[in-house]
Amino acid sequence: MPYRVPCPRHELFARPPYPFPFFQGRPFVSVLTSTGCSGKCIFCSHRLAPLGRRDTDDVRRELFRINELGIRCVYFQDACFTMDRGAVLATLDQIQELPDPIRWVCSCRVDQVDRELLEKMKATGCIAIQFGVESGNEAILKLLNKNITLQQALGTFQLCRELGIRTHAFFIMGLPMETTETMQQTVEFALKLNPDSASFGVPMFLAGTTLTNKYGGEAFLREGDDVSPARQPRTGILESDLMQALRAAYRRFYFRPAYALRQLGRARNPRDFWVAIRQGVGLLRWIGGGRRS
Ligand code: SF4
Repeated sequence: MPYRVPCPRHELFARPPYPFPFFQGRPFVSVLTSTGCSGKCIFCSHRLAPLGRRDTDDVRRELFRINELGIRCVYFQDACFTMDRGAVLATLDQIQELPDPIRWVCSCRVDQVDRELLEKMKATGCIAIQFGVESGNEAILKLLNKNITLQQALGTFQLCRELGIRTHAFFIMGLPMETTETMQQTVEFALKLNPDSASFGVPMFLAGTTLTNKYGGEAFLREGDDVSPARQPRTGILESDLMQALRAAYRRFYFRPAYALRQLGRARNPRDFWVAIRQGVGLLRWIGGGRRS
């Protein structure tokens, strides 16, 4: 049974200090059309939440209200926006009915979109999609129960590029089974995938997930840890080495001259240019100073 929620007071949030990189400093709001995810990834808490679909009229009312407020950027915060194709198509129809066009961003799985759907998404204002790719190693993807292949990821990112939809790829490093080589593979794959942006994070041991139940906090080695075979951790990566590997991944991905030029070349006005510079400086500070942001 589709659920309904009262329309949030979006006017209170659609202003700084809530920036979202793809909207380049423009006011935006978040909208949720579903809960949970039918994916089975072992590290994710969304799969533990009940699957729910919001009433389409309820979503429509909220989108019209946002339009009325003059807000033109929407982030669909669903864990997997394309989980139910029929419902997504209904939402796209509603977006098309809005008096003023909007730009929007969502997250989905690489195996749940195809050219036809992506074209429709693009036509209704989708400017960017975030995808969880997680690893550049097929065996780790399998262990995570991600149920996608690297080839699928390459195909979907290529399609988005052809259609002019920007992409963000999420990667995780320091997973069970991880080695220096597999982390290297992840970075190489990120470069090959060539999304518009990428993030490299560490596994979160969330309550109730298989990752936590099976591997707990034993995934990393810490300096001074007993590494005798009787207490062999799931990955032989020292936490300090992992942090270094993350910084190196960001450095390799973002500090490529061609990448920097592409991003700056996209700036359509001084504000876009300034936002890109600020993001670059923030990243430089983190990489250089060891500060997490
Ligand atoms: S990681 Fe993404 S696809 Fe996997 S269960 Fe979570 S939301 Fe679903």
